Amino acid sequence: STPVSIVSALSTAARHGVLIKGGAYLEALARVQTIAIDKTGTLTTGKPAVVTLRTVGCIKPEAPLGHCTACNELLALAGAVERRSEHPLAYAIVNAANTCGLTLPSAAEVRTLVGQGVRGIVNGTEVFIGSHRTFDQVMTHDEWHCLAAHRDSQLGRTPVMVGVDGQYRGTITVADTIRAESRSAIARLRDQGLRIVMLTGDETATAERIAAELGVDDVRAGLLPADKAQTVQALRQTNGVVAMVGDGINDAPALATADVGIAISARAGGTTQAMETADITLLSGDLHQLPFAIALSRQTLRTIA
Ligand code: ADP
Ligand code: MG
Repeated sequence: STPVSIVSALSTAARHGVLIKGGAYLEALARVQTIAIDKTGTLTTGKPAVVTLRTVGCIKPEAPLGHCTACNELLALAGAVERRSEHPLAYAIVNAANTCGLTLPSAAEVRTLVGQGVRGIVNGTEVFIGSHRTFDQVMTHDEWHCLAAHRDSQLGRTPVMVGVDGQYRGTITVADTIRAESRSAIARLRDQGLRIVMLTGDETATAERIAAELGVDDVRAGLLPADKAQTVQALRQTNGVVAMVGDGINDAPALATADVGIAISARAGGTTQAMETADITLLSGDLHQLPFAIALSRQTLRTIA
C-alpha cells in the first residue's frame, strides 16, 4: 500500500497546480538528475509575433508590415495555410495577416510535417511554409535571404520560409519571448544539483542564443520529434534519471521515453497530446512548479526512508 506521506505529498502538489498521476512518479522525481526541456512554448511563451517579412521582388525588404503588395500577397497565402495549423508560429502568422486587414483565401489538403512545417493548396497553387533547414532540402533560395535568415537566428528569432509551387518566395521572421520566470526557475533547478538540457526543433543559432540567455547547461537543436525521444534515451544512458518537460505534440515521444514526463497543461498553452503522454502536468505553466515539485518529492522520500 502507498505510504500516507506519499498520498499527502500528491495532494500538496495538486494544491500547488502540479498534477502527478501516481506515487511512483513522485518517487522517480526525487531521483531525477537531468532535466531535458523543450524551448518553444515551454521556456518561451509560445506566443510569438511576426517581426519582419522579406519577399522576393519587394523593393523595401525591411519595411513595416502591410506596406507592399507582394508582401501582403505572401502573408495572405501563408496565413491561409497556417490558419489550419495549431503551431505557435502559425498563430503569429495568422495574427499578422489579420492585423494587416488581409482576407485569407481558403486552403485545401493542408498537411503538417511535425517539426518541419506545413503545406497546402491555395487558389490552385501549392504553398509550403517551413524551417530554413527543411527549405534547404526541398528548394533553392535567394542567397541574400539565406544570410538574412541566419542573422535573424543569431538574434534568437525564428525565420520561417515560404515557397509557392516549388519556388522560394520569402521569409517571415517570428520572435518569441522567454517566459518571465524561466531564467530563475532554471537557476533554482541548477541549485538543486540538476543538469538542464534544452531540446528544440528550432535552428542551432536561434537555440544557442536563447540557451545563453537562460543559463542552461547544454542545448540540442534541429531535433524532429523522434530525435527528441532518441536524445532523451541517450541522456538516460549517460546522465542517470531523466525528466522531460514539454508542451507540444512534437514532445510526446520524448515525454513517453523519459523516466518522468512533465507536460504544460493545455489551459496554459500546452496540448492535450502532451498531457496524455506525460506522468505529471503543470497546470499554470509556471516553471517554478518544477523546483517546487523536485523539493517536495525529495523531502517526501526522505521521510519514508
Ligand atoms: P520546438 O521543438 O522548439 O517546440 P517544433 O519542433 O514545433 O519546435 O518546430 C521546429 C521548426 O519547424 C520551427 O522552428 C519551424 O521552423 C518549423 N515549423 C513547425 N511547424 C510549423 C508551422 N506550422 N509553420 C511554419 N513552420 C513550422
Ligand atoms: Mg514546444
